[in-house]
Amino acid sequence: MQRTELSTAPNKLIWRWTTSGNYSAQSCYTATFHGATACHSWKLIWKCWAPPRVKFFHWLANQDRCWTAERLARHGLQHHPRCLLCDQQPKTVRHIMLECPLARQTWHETLA
Ligand SMILES: [Zn+2]
Repeated sequence: MQRTELSTAPNKLIWRWTTSGNYSAQSCYTATFHGATACHSWKLIWKCWAPPRVKFFHWLANQDRCWTAERLARHGLQHHPRCLLCDQQPKTVRHIMLECPLARQTWHETLA
């Protein structure tokens, strides 16, 4: 067991996110992202060889700005509750780009 010595000095709060130990709003904001990982994959979209319309679509999809049922619902617009291709799951960008079995099949047939 470690030996701890107590002193009569008053307690002092030390903010661990600055070297001075003093709180600042900027250090608090920076601490919010401590341990977070940054993904800058969107920068690669504009550097690839794909046609501009494909790059633009990927940029929209990356920002979740495609007009999926989920987005239509967010904006209070009429929408079908599930994916029109597979009718299994809600139509989200993630579903269309990664999960939908029929969309994946279509992609494979297009690329073959
Ligand atoms: Zn689907």
